[in-house]
Amino acid sequence: MQGIENKKNILDLTPAELESLVTELGEKKFRAKQIFGWLAKGAESFYDMHNVPARLLVSLADAGWHVGLPETMEEQRSKDGTVKCLFRFDDGSEIESVFMKYDYGNSICISSQVGCRMGCSFCASTMDGLARGLTGGEMLAQVLAMRNLTREDIGHVVIMGMGEPFDNYDEVIRFIRLINDRDGYDLGLRNITVSTCGVIPGIKKFAEDVPQVNLAVSLHAPNQQLRERTMPVARKYGYDELMEACREYTETTKRRITFEYALIDGVNDSEECAKELAGRLSGWLTHVNLIPLNEVSGREYRTAQPGNVRRFREVLEKRGVAVTVRRTLGSDIDAACGQLRRNRE
Ligand code: SAH
Repeated sequence: MQGIENKKNILDLTPAELESLVTELGEKKFRAKQIFGWLAKGAESFYDMHNVPARLLVSLADAGWHVGLPETMEEQRSKDGTVKCLFRFDDGSEIESVFMKYDYGNSICISSQVGCRMGCSFCASTMDGLARGLTGGEMLAQVLAMRNLTREDIGHVVIMGMGEPFDNYDEVIRFIRLINDRDGYDLGLRNITVSTCGVIPGIKKFAEDVPQVNLAVSLHAPNQQLRERTMPVARKYGYDELMEACREYTETTKRRITFEYALIDGVNDSEECAKELAGRLSGWLTHVNLIPLNEVSGREYRTAQPGNVRRFREVLEKRGVAVTVRRTLGSDIDAACGQLRRNRE
């Protein structure tokens, strides 16, 4: 766990860890459950926890614990109801989270790292490199802070903001356990989606650890050669090996996998690309989510022409591959996929 010295985030603790802490401080175990419940309700400090004895709260504070919700540095609201927040944690790290409204309910896209070191050439999040991974508690804190701010229920979480979740695997799992806990936020595992750029060991572990959580894989190309052009991670984890790991994932978990495919004008949006992709995917439990590229300032890539997006979709459909085109939310406030970044200009 990270954080600034002597300031420990109580949001990082599982109920079991909180129980040991509370008993070490000479209090009854059930106090842990009370505190955990308050945190899930969005309590901003120990002072909000009315039914917990003041002496316990003082001991916690004396031992260096605090409720590590981030400070909201900036809040932008889009015409479509999307809210993007720039959050700052105690050590000065800044990340972005995005609240979105869908027909099936409200969703939040959270960040898993401060920056990213994966280097995808079309994405803004990687432009300033990686500063550090976020802790599980800091991921939970984004959901709680966003709910406090919007005063809206949030029933779905996607870990598709800044960062590569499987480059911070243990803390992502900690987050999932924390938010899923019945005594806390109690979010169903099926309401959580994690997106990876294709870190194969992560995919394998994920299938074993949390098979009920949805997995999305950023593919963005129909073959190794093209994938390598935009995604450096492809040099470490090759295309065939990745497809093999994904197929294994669907077999072990019996869950469908989503492939994300950002359509970039003249790079990966041709009919040939669509046919090649369909060839690789037909006959297994997948779903392709086409994302017309969101343009990022400072990057030369342009978004695919609407006609090419349509054609790409049709080729996949005709070959029996389930496909949708992602509705772009929040692009007027740079909150769309790939537009989140560490440094504000
Ligand atoms: N690192 C993880 C999760 C973060 S990105 C991953 O790579 O999956 C969330 C999604 O947005 C990924 O599919 C990513 O490739 C995509 N993305 C990145 N930049 C984009 C852009 N400019 N336009 C559209 N999608 C983009």
